[in-house]
Amino acid sequence: MKNTLTLILISINIVFSFAQTKPNIILILADDLGYADVGYHGGDEIPTPNIDYLATNGVQFSTGYAMAPVCGPSRAGMLTGRYQNRFGFEDNPGGPFRQTEETRQGIPLTEVTLGEQLKKNGYRTAWIGKDHQGKFDEFHPTNRGFDEFFGFVNGASTYFSNKNKKQSLQRGTTPVNDEPEYLTDAFGREAVKFIKENKDNPFFLYLPFNAVHGPLEAKKEDLKHFKNIENVKRRTLAAMHLAMDRNIGNIIETLNDLNLDENTLIIFYSDNGGKPKGNYSYNHPLKGGKGTVLDGGIRVPFLMHWNGTIEGGQKKDFPIAAIDIYPTIMAAINSKEKLENDLDGINLLPFLTNEEAVPEDRYIYWRFLYQWAIRNNEWKLLKLKGQDELELYHISEDISETKNVILEFPEIASKLKKEYESWSGNMMQPQWSWQGKFGGPINSRKKNQIINNKK
Ligand code: CA
Repeated sequence: MKNTLTLILISINIVFSFAQTKPNIILILADDLGYADVGYHGGDEIPTPNIDYLATNGVQFSTGYAMAPVCGPSRAGMLTGRYQNRFGFEDNPGGPFRQTEETRQGIPLTEVTLGEQLKKNGYRTAWIGKDHQGKFDEFHPTNRGFDEFFGFVNGASTYFSNKNKKQSLQRGTTPVNDEPEYLTDAFGREAVKFIKENKDNPFFLYLPFNAVHGPLEAKKEDLKHFKNIENVKRRTLAAMHLAMDRNIGNIIETLNDLNLDENTLIIFYSDNGGKPKGNYSYNHPLKGGKGTVLDGGIRVPFLMHWNGTIEGGQKKDFPIAAIDIYPTIMAAINSKEKLENDLDGINLLPFLTNEEAVPEDRYIYWRFLYQWAIRNNEWKLLKLKGQDELELYHISEDISETKNVILEFPEIASKLKKEYESWSGNMMQPQWSWQGKFGGPINSRKKNQIINNKK
């Protein structure tokens, strides 16, 4: 009897200490969110009170970067903690140009996703929202470390699933044909449900909203709040923001109700910059937008919130990147599981708990097909599509990339170029693409070969 009691007490103690020492992780992505379109960055046209709450009670990164200026590769880098260029995931999946006809467009199985790594650490994992990591079965979220999936595999979706027979919503791998709610509300609802169901065990909620990516579709009742915005597309975008922010508010409220606030690390950022010409999102004061390696394409609203661990009200200006999320989470959960691959980012927690600390002399790289960029502390060197000349910006002083100073600082440009080339030389060639040059179009390759043979 005594032994049984001891065993029970030990078991209770193990369960208790496990729950206490393993923080929950909630990783929320916005899609194509503009740098200027959050309240805490000064966006006054579209209120985002709940995102602002997280930002002002957590840490805001003014210089937070996504890994690519488009959705798929940006997420692949974040989910693996490694430059996606290491494994050829340089463009969105589905591209017609491929290295070989057999190319599998997705994160290779040799990479270990955040979901897989957190599962190894005993976490219950859910992926609620957009996928965009390839359509082959082996890349489906449920095969990449996620116990639950509610969302869609493609790069975009209608927000009114029940009105569109072609909708592609899934629960697990089963099609959902009767979703009654506006998609952003449905994702928020499922997120809250997952949190409630897992309140007693460590969980990882990956919540990539497709808001505010096109198509521009909003609920009538949300549109009513923005009668002051004349441009109907901008008005629709504002209503889509409102829906996302409302659902983030529901998550905050749920965590508070369940007393999980101090045991949950929340990370929020956007997979790439806003698209001013397509969906009327604003990136000012940044130059450019989605699809370019100018800061408007890659620098995004980026915050972390963890009551009791990360002191609120912090603003950090040093450059960080989404590859830092993986090692930061590993440190937050005190992971003892061995990593199979070297990570490219850095653990940010020491810089958030010690006011004085700053990451030293770090380099961040982007290669997106015909474009590339490198950031080193206060400097940024880049090459845009369709031009041979490089551009150097003293970006810490010139946030809008207005003055190319390459002629004034040739040594810095030369050093950064060399550094970039050294990095790029260690990356894989893009394995597929929507733009030519890389491999050739699958359907016309045979035709090209015939033409070449004739020559
Ligand atoms: Ca995106």
